[in-house]
Amino acid sequence: MAIPHGLMGRLAVYEAPNRPFEIRLFPVRAPRAGEVLVRIRMSTICRSDVHSYLGHRPNPCPGVLGHEIIGTIVELGAGITHDMRGEPLAPGDRITWSEYFIPGPNYFTEVLDLPQKSPGVDKYGHMAAATDPHHHGGFGEYCYVLPQSWILKLPEALTDEEATPINCGVATMMCVTERAGIRMGDAVVVQGLGLLGLYGAAIAKARGARRVIGLDTVASRRELASRFGVDLALDPSAVPEAELVKAVRAACPPDGADAVLEVCGYPEVIPAGIAFLRTGGRYALAGVVNPGSGVTIDANLLLRRMVTLTGVHNYHPRNLVEALDFVHANRDRFPFHELVDGKYRLDEAGKAMQDAAERRVLRAAIVP
Ligand SMILES: [Zn+2]
Repeated sequence: MAIPHGLMGRLAVYEAPNRPFEIRLFPVRAPRAGEVLVRIRMSTICRSDVHSYLGHRPNPCPGVLGHEIIGTIVELGAGITHDMRGEPLAPGDRITWSEYFIPGPNYFTEVLDLPQKSPGVDKYGHMAAATDPHHHGGFGEYCYVLPQSWILKLPEALTDEEATPINCGVATMMCVTERAGIRMGDAVVVQGLGLLGLYGAAIAKARGARRVIGLDTVASRRELASRFGVDLALDPSAVPEAELVKAVRAACPPDGADAVLEVCGYPEVIPAGIAFLRTGGRYALAGVVNPGSGVTIDANLLLRRMVTLTGVHNYHPRNLVEALDFVHANRDRFPFHELVDGKYRLDEAGKAMQDAAERRVLRAAIVP
């Protein structure tokens, strides 16, 4: 299909942190080799979009946000014929793709098996609107899937609401639960029951956890959590920390949690996270994404309890495949479609961002 000459696409651009979004038009050209031009179906607002918008971390401006995106292929650039699993791709196919792309094979891809941390890695929704090809974020009508991204065709059975968070929220929690080594019979504690925590609980159950304990100060989230595999939901602000530790350890006999997942973003919860663990337990940090997340811990506890502490930033491409398969296989077991609980037009991006920032919705979706 030829792209009509002079075609323009709308983008919701923000001039600087906390400034209103403005709809601007940018040219849409034919995809170059290795690119795919996609018409966006849905983009959900991730907590990291909120952090960028509020200026908690640097993001080029005037900018285009949004990296949890799905879309329909308009045109394939030269060299792109199949998705990462070998499925043929054609215009009209609905796809998801990795939230990041890399400059090309390098030491991190070839030797370390950490392609997601390649030097020069860049993410959708993290670039200035002026940067070619302009359409590289979710808050718009079009997006170019850029070279060295990982693409997956979406099964027809999945709704847009189920499919959109796969390439960030779900894939990230696939990586987190993998790094935390969750296996059959484990007792798992999840610190934070936002979208990541709910997916994390569900994935832990699917990986065979016998018991999942969720911690969140928001009552509505604790209630929802029972439908995502959380057996016991506690309010960490309701009791002194020592009592919370006692309650959690008592719920994980005989010696405490096998694994703890931090997805709340507050470094001050880390000492309790360590204290929940059994001897030989594993602790994965995935929420404390902002620089300056300082905290004091008793390192002797890590040593004495033989704790494994691991961090997760971005996910491996294999986690994207697993995320899609997990959602597809468990869509009747867990109500994933309910997580996208607010829908907005592109010209309502400001309201969507505000509702997401103030946690009025779990996942705000922009439907252009
Ligand atoms: Zn994200």
